[in-house]
Amino acid sequence: MVLGESTFRDVVCTVCGCCCDHLEVTVKGNTVVKVRNACAMSTSKLLNYMNERLMKPMVRRRGRLSSCSYRDAIDAAAKILSKSRSPLLYGWSLTSCEAVEVGVELAEEVGGFIDNTTSTCHGPTILGVHEIGESSSTLGEVRHRADLIIYWGCNPIHAHPLHMPRYTLLSKGRFRKSRSERTLIVVDVRRTDTAKMADMFIQIEPNKDYELISALRAAVRGNEIDQDEVGGVPTDLIEELAEKLISCDFGALFFGLGLTMSPGKSENVDAALSLVRDLNSKTKFVIIPMRGHFNVNGANNVMTWMTGYPYAIDFTRGFPYYNPGETSAVDLLARGECDSALIVASDPVSNFPYKATCNLTSIPLITIDPHITPTVLCSDVAFPSALVGIETSGTVYRMDGVPLVTRKLVEPPRNMRSDVEILKDILRRYRNLKRLSR
Ligand code: SF4
Repeated sequence: MVLGESTFRDVVCTVCGCCCDHLEVTVKGNTVVKVRNACAMSTSKLLNYMNERLMKPMVRRRGRLSSCSYRDAIDAAAKILSKSRSPLLYGWSLTSCEAVEVGVELAEEVGGFIDNTTSTCHGPTILGVHEIGESSSTLGEVRHRADLIIYWGCNPIHAHPLHMPRYTLLSKGRFRKSRSERTLIVVDVRRTDTAKMADMFIQIEPNKDYELISALRAAVRGNEIDQDEVGGVPTDLIEELAEKLISCDFGALFFGLGLTMSPGKSENVDAALSLVRDLNSKTKFVIIPMRGHFNVNGANNVMTWMTGYPYAIDFTRGFPYYNPGETSAVDLLARGECDSALIVASDPVSNFPYKATCNLTSIPLITIDPHITPTVLCSDVAFPSALVGIETSGTVYRMDGVPLVTRKLVEPPRNMRSDVEILKDILRRYRNLKRLSR
């Protein structure tokens, strides 16, 4: 515990995929009292992290959740997993890489499925990268060199508030020092707050991304577009846009769920990756997805190191198998193919489709989460956990693939363990139960 007042510098924010690592956090008597350099989302999390906390392990008895000892909760969780034939282990984007590592070990041990939240956001991005490959860079390169920035289907002013000030339009880089040295282009279905800052706003009809990118690729290659408009965008404007892309020195295309979750999904991403590949025959261009949760990229990385696949991994066959759409959490649950679930730092009950949620809440459910969420309230066993980047340290991956180490700023509430400790205890108890049953 920090006695008196102490200020931590270069703190990594654990909210969005920007993982800003320049925060200053002042702690007094184990309470965060002041936050500097952060956006409103980050400041709110750091000052209010004790709101709605789950404080004790819980188990469901006679239909009601009631508090229990940590040991009883571990025992109950291990028993649920030991009786399952196809458990689902889901979440992982709001915890540390170290926790994901234990999670994969547990998934293999129990012979279940493990999936992270990528399958409901940038899954199509990963499939696109499998197909096409990607021309990428760090956000630092973009900050120092990019003279043209595109935001396609994303609104960073609201979802990634410091993306523009730290890495793109409003950042001060080594070679690009001010707003006047950069051009901002926004492609979206509506004039968002980010679009209001753009030098060029392209308003596209909903669900026409693939068509517009294809037309843009044709224009970049010097081919004629024999239509007056594509996706609601006049051909003149498409040709003007192509000219801007070709004539920049260093371009960066950032894209969000407007591209990955509209019809076409991975085909849209394939087209965008191909556009950037085409542009690299004329200038320097990179493409980077706007990852949402602070460590969803870390979950992809750890799962890939350990299994060869970034998400939606099936261990039920005794070896890792991967087929998103078949082995991803929503699909498995919608088909009723899981007979228990362990949810780590995620709230699928609040955001999964109805049928998947109904099936999730009808099977034995274990949740590890710092807060009381609808998923926690539907659980049979629930563990409170320490918050990564506030009450415990851990490694996370920024949206551009740069790993960063988060720090422990305050002591967690008494007897509160980290995700890593809880998962290791469940794994240990599961192995004991299996040994006893032989
Ligand atoms: S932009 Fe994202 S990572 Fe940066 S301070 Fe805000 S919430 Fe945190």
